[in-house]
Amino acid sequence: MTDKPTPMRAPLVPPRSYKLGDTYWIKRLNTLLRFADEDLGVLTDDAWEELLDQLYESIYGAKRDRANKGDIFNKTANRKSIREAQRGLAHAIKKGADEYGDVRLELAKQRMGIGHDESLGFYHLLESDHLPTTIYGTFAILLEASCIRRSDAHNCANDKCGRYFVPLRKVPEKKPAYCSTKCANRMAAIRYRKAHGPKLKARERDRSKKRYMKKSLSRNRSLR
Ligand SMILES: [Zn+2]
Repeated sequence: MTDKPTPMRAPLVPPRSYKLGDTYWIKRLNTLLRFADEDLGVLTDDAWEELLDQLYESIYGAKRDRANKGDIFNKTANRKSIREAQRGLAHAIKKGADEYGDVRLELAKQRMGIGHDESLGFYHLLESDHLPTTIYGTFAILLEASCIRRSDAHNCANDKCGRYFVPLRKVPEKKPAYCSTKCANRMAAIRYRKAHGPKLKARERDRSKKRYMKKSLSRNRSLR
């Protein structure tokens, strides 16, 4: 008895959609960068499923159907394979480059599919029962499609975050890069307090002094 092949779905990256604009690919790439740094041990079951949804979107550029048991991603994504993919990815990102600056990732057996679509023309897709292989392949494709350089990746300047990511727009030199508006707002609030702190405090002192004077004045008046 032979396994019936699962029907082909959308390609990993249809070559012509490279034109979708750099930020589209950077967003998908950032999902993988975030995943490489995620603490998997603290994830609740709900958070775990959400992580799988995000990984699916990063790989296929499409929404995951959690109920589809025949989907090769749903079949192969489990705690063990996800952990292995994370280890491999984190190693490639943080210290994988050799003396030439190249990164090498070990792949498992793959199948190649050749698909056709009237609007796209022919495209190919690589499929593997080994999820880390699929994720490494996606990582390489997204790096290329994003048209970024190593120097475009930053650590979030929010000291409480520090996440490694690629900003959607070029960050001017010497300007801090933030991974989210939440991180940008937090640091803006801290900067504001630092710059205006003494002034704000003096104004507050002034105000309470005035309040006190007003109160004691009216008290004095009522005593009269
Ligand atoms: Zn951040």
